[in-house]
Amino acid sequence: MSSIVYEVFAVRFATANRRRQDNFFYAVEEDPQGSMALDFFVWLIVGNGKVVLVDTGFSQTSSLVRGRPYVIEPAVALHQLGYPTETVQDVVVTHLHYDHAGNVGDYAHARIWLQERELQFATGKCMCDPRLSNFFATDDIALLLKRLYRGDVRLLDGNHTLHDGIELYAIGGHTDGLQVVRVRTARGWVLLASDAAHFYENLDAKNPFPAVFSMEDMLDGYALIEGLVDDHDCIVPGHDPKVCERYPLAIPSCPYAYRIA
Ligand SMILES: [Zn+2]
Repeated sequence: MSSIVYEVFAVRFATANRRRQDNFFYAVEEDPQGSMALDFFVWLIVGNGKVVLVDTGFSQTSSLVRGRPYVIEPAVALHQLGYPTETVQDVVVTHLHYDHAGNVGDYAHARIWLQERELQFATGKCMCDPRLSNFFATDDIALLLKRLYRGDVRLLDGNHTLHDGIELYAIGGHTDGLQVVRVRTARGWVLLASDAAHFYENLDAKNPFPAVFSMEDMLDGYALIEGLVDDHDCIVPGHDPKVCERYPLAIPSCPYAYRIA
């Protein structure tokens, strides 16, 4: 087995207060009206000469339009961590929702990795339904298409090894072409689940976040991501504030970045 391992950081760039029940598709028994915050993250993978960003967060426009203030802009946090945007070589876009795929213009030197199915989903007939299109920002899609025409986007058809120890897996479920990222680290395989599991509790209770394109793929996805790690604790959900409790700050001068591995 290869000995290449990577460091992994989660950057919490925004947060929102929500009602617990609003984070689950099926009824929850425990305190449905209680509060349960939802955090927003991008993830950084570094090592072996590679700098890979997983998702790009939401844009300034989306922040204003949707009334979601930044805790910190993702690009500023990356700079503070020592990896300014121009050092990012690869951007993996897990899916094209506004809170994951804004700002792709910030990473002008990067290749962008996306499932072709996700692009078809986000530019196809499903977007005629506002209940589905509401999660996307047309400015983000337009910017992505500009990068595509410039030759910067790599469209994937299923699973793909990006680098030795950084693997992409097509899951679907939450959106039609969602992908997750598995990274070899000093603590074993870490699985960046993005919105295949918003919260640890979505996964543990098999009760999805209520933004579901295919329930069948969503539930199959839980089994798939659990099978990709040796240790359940190595799954990193996409929006759970508990990530910030479980993991230490990466460096004191950047109180938004947590060291996953
Ligand atoms: Zn999403």
